[in-house]
Amino acid sequence: MRIDLHTHSSVSDGTDAPAELVAEAARAGVDVIALCDHDTFDGLAVAVAAGQRLGVSVLHGIEISAQHHGVSVHLLGYGCRIDDPALADELARIRQGRSGRVPAMLERLSRAGMPVPREVLDRYVGDSPSIGRPHLADAMVELGYVSDRREAFDRYLADGGPIFVGRYATPLGRGLDLVRDAGGVAVIAHPWGRVSRDELPASLLGRLAASGRLDGVEVDHQDHDPSTRAELRALASGLGLLTTGSSDYHGAGKKDHDLACNTTAPEVLAEIGARVAARGGLLVGEPPASV
Ligand code: AMP
Ligand code: MN
Ligand code: MN
Ligand code: MN
Repeated sequence: MRIDLHTHSSVSDGTDAPAELVAEAARAGVDVIALCDHDTFDGLAVAVAAGQRLGVSVLHGIEISAQHHGVSVHLLGYGCRIDDPALADELARIRQGRSGRVPAMLERLSRAGMPVPREVLDRYVGDSPSIGRPHLADAMVELGYVSDRREAFDRYLADGGPIFVGRYATPLGRGLDLVRDAGGVAVIAHPWGRVSRDELPASLLGRLAASGRLDGVEVDHQDHDPSTRAELRALASGLGLLTTGSSDYHGAGKKDHDLACNTTAPEVLAEIGARVAARGGLLVGEPPASV
């Protein structure tokens, strides 16, 4: 049983359309995936329908752009009711922030001698409602300014980089409440990946665990080296937090993040399922008849 609880489609910043992502999972022999697009549920219905055709169980997920004292925190929500009004409003607010900063970033690129015409950017955004820096990175690759997304981030787009412009992100505590109130299970994505443990300290994870609002942490992730994984796993065990593992697959958009390169234990998924059921959420969606 191979379970990958963190994947992206082209509905956010992955490069596979939702049905292609599921087909890729089937080809790779992955039994369960959660689609966790950034700040949108729009890919779920098509992905669930494709999963039913192809024999892949597709779970309802999301990766919410949150922050704690200005430090970016990615919050995974599993099994949220996707029509929950408070959650939907907050996601819309984040997506507006994503779109709202684009002109300022294009302006910075122009001033830096790397103009990106809006039409070029829009080709990479496609019909994603959740525009992100990776789309801008893809346009920069096409225009020959950088060789890949990673270089675009390392030189220009990373937090604090010369082209970076901030945007709205949900306060972490509110994100946890929104996930819980929508029936979901909350897991902090790659807690000690790009964000260091100084910025997201064990003491904070301890407080969130003690408050009962945080369910787990993503331990097995490519942004965590073996010693980080070991420390995080020990911490989670002491705090009674669930631990997950996943690929954070972005299609061709992220190297070394192949589907199921990290996986989650079946017992952990069973516990997530039990918590979602107890909270009135929905982990496995029904595809609408029209899809
Ligand atoms: P945004 O959604 O605009 O905040 O951009 C963040 C997204 O960019 C993340 O979800 C990653 O998919 C991607 N990303 C962040 N840092 C890097 C990096 N150094 N290299 C490649 N992709 C990155
Ligand atoms: Mn991403
Ligand atoms: Mn993330
Ligand atoms: Mn992700």
